[in-house]
Amino acid sequence: MRLRTLRNLNAADLEGKRVLVRVDYNVPLEDGQVKDDTRIRASLPTLQFLLDKGAIVVLASHLGRPKGKVVPELSLKPVADHLSMLIGRPVTFIPDIPSGAEQIQQAKPRDLFLLENTRFYPGERSNDPEFAKLLASYGDLFVNDAFGTAHRAHASTYGVASYLQPCVAGLLVEREVRYLTEIRDHPKKPYTVILGGAKVSDKIGVLEALLPKADRCLIGGGMAYTFLKAQGKAIGDSLLDEESISHVERFLQTFGDRIVLPEDHVIAKEVRPQEPLEIVEEEIPEGYRGVDIGPKTIAKFVSLMEGNGTVFWNGPMGVFEIPGMDQGTLEIARKLRQVTQSGTITVTGGGDTVRALHAAGVSDEEITHVSTGGGATLEFLAGKSLPGLEILKEEE
Ligand code: AMP
Repeated sequence: MRLRTLRNLNAADLEGKRVLVRVDYNVPLEDGQVKDDTRIRASLPTLQFLLDKGAIVVLASHLGRPKGKVVPELSLKPVADHLSMLIGRPVTFIPDIPSGAEQIQQAKPRDLFLLENTRFYPGERSNDPEFAKLLASYGDLFVNDAFGTAHRAHASTYGVASYLQPCVAGLLVEREVRYLTEIRDHPKKPYTVILGGAKVSDKIGVLEALLPKADRCLIGGGMAYTFLKAQGKAIGDSLLDEESISHVERFLQTFGDRIVLPEDHVIAKEVRPQEPLEIVEEEIPEGYRGVDIGPKTIAKFVSLMEGNGTVFWNGPMGVFEIPGMDQGTLEIARKLRQVTQSGTITVTGGGDTVRALHAAGVSDEEITHVSTGGGATLEFLAGKSLPGLEILKEEE
């Protein structure tokens, strides 16, 4: 897919122009402060690029799920303050999107604005034309730099393109698409995929697309138990997604030789801190849940990560938020760093997976590409078309 990008524009397209930029500032807040600013930092190259060219930058983002109403705890005001500190210049916060026109009209080159949470307005998620038009009126052109929401056809990610041209990809979206296209279309072989997490149903599409391309797919986390159940194994009270069983049976029939499942498990009666843990092989007794992959499985998965051309990882191997149930996830994270050093192309994505990487002491720079998307990344790799990228495509 060829996208129009910021780099295709020349200086005259940007100097003194108002640029509406959709960013992903859906960041965790605690006591009115930004707790993790990874996503804000990830937007800085695009902002700096635009400011250096003398543009007026108007930023739009959502934060959390306020469901079309004003929820003061989900205001982007703390993000405006934090961004101002990072970028070393004032950021004018527009607390009410419909009444921002006058301030933005009077702006000078290199002024920087952040609009309030777009999801405070019901028109954002419903992609209401009036709301899209309002957002479009704040720019002379549109830059999408929010890869994580590219799978949503919302007013600020998609609808805006009906009223504002040109629409181009920001530097972050450009980088995401470059790396993810490479592993979607031409993964360097051998190619190992590692999937975990809780919801099998979310990953059916990506499994469908990746199983024919991958040499191996290692499955851990809560989703593994649906596979084990489909093989007739006892899984006790572990997570089970009944509705996905028929898909899973089909995957096992067609690609059974590529799918690698856990052989032992860390089990507990309850999923809570300080719960006594046991290790079992194969069958999980009634009254117990699998909460992490066991040591034999860790050793097997880690050895299968060696010697690959490409490794893609999404989803924790266990309930990694609870100490003692996090070993499988942490070991995979550390091994991913090690294989990157040996020349394997490594790609990860998803909020939990990135948190797990950081918890294991692995930084983004130690992995080939850490995607800022979760659902968007999986949909992209599954070959689906993402509305937020469709609007950036070059004419064929
Ligand atoms: P997902 O959003 O589908 O990637 O799921 C992420 C969540 O899966 C994390 O919050 C993990 O705690 C959870 N998870 C991983 N393994 C298990 C498991 N064995 N049992 C229950 N939850 C799990």
